Amino acid sequence: SEALTIGALQQWLYRFASEITTQADWLTELDSAIGDADHGTNMVRGTAAVVTKLDGGATGTVQELLKAVGMTLVATVGGASGSLYGTFFIEMARNSPADVQLNGSELENALHAGVNGVIARGHATVGDKTMIDALEPAVTALSQSLADGQQLQCSIAAAAAAATTGRDSTKPLVARKGRASYLGERSAGHIDPGAASAAILLAALAASIGE
Ligand code: ADP
Ligand code: MG
Ligand code: MG
Repeated sequence: SEALTIGALQQWLYRFASEITTQADWLTELDSAIGDADHGTNMVRGTAAVVTKLDGGATGTVQELLKAVGMTLVATVGGASGSLYGTFFIEMARNSPADVQLNGSELENALHAGVNGVIARGHATVGDKTMIDALEPAVTALSQSLADGQQLQCSIAAAAAAATTGRDSTKPLVARKGRASYLGERSAGHIDPGAASAAILLAALAASIGE
């Protein structure tokens, strides 16, 4: 398929929620090593609220769907990640068409805007040991793959793979942003929890296209 329909985007969000629930204990364990042990519960609370919102129906356009998701996450996740994930979806929404599907370049534009929104809000760059270490390489891989003429499904798979590699790249790093940065050198040796949840977000997208 060469476009993500609103139905596929909804499947993405349902799958994100279910994967977050499955991996919540791991996310919290990661956050207990370098933070305050709440990333799993924060994300479960937020994605459960998104599921409730989706179950309520009537999302209309891609723009409306993504905006509702962002607003829900801002209101429910809490912590640093709540406003950052909220910004991600709200900026995606602002840069999506008022239509019922996203083609490859529209998805690329929306994701790029979402990541830039997180950077504008959190001031992290690649290497700071945050969700940006998973998100930015994912968008770069998507753009590269689409520019190479690959199918959308294949390009999203490449983005998800890059997010996973980016997640793992955070392990040796010393955190320079967020709560983990308070630990200084002691933050090295642990995967960043937000990079882990961001890799789940991209994996869920890859699993939801072409279904
Ligand atoms: P809190 O740190 O407030 O308890 P969470 O535990 O839910 O919030 O989320 C922590 C994650 O948020 C980190 O692992 C990191 O990926 C992300 N994060 C924190 N600060 C920033 C930032 N300034 N920019 C990007 N991501 C950040
Ligand atoms: Mg935390
Ligand atoms: Mg917290």
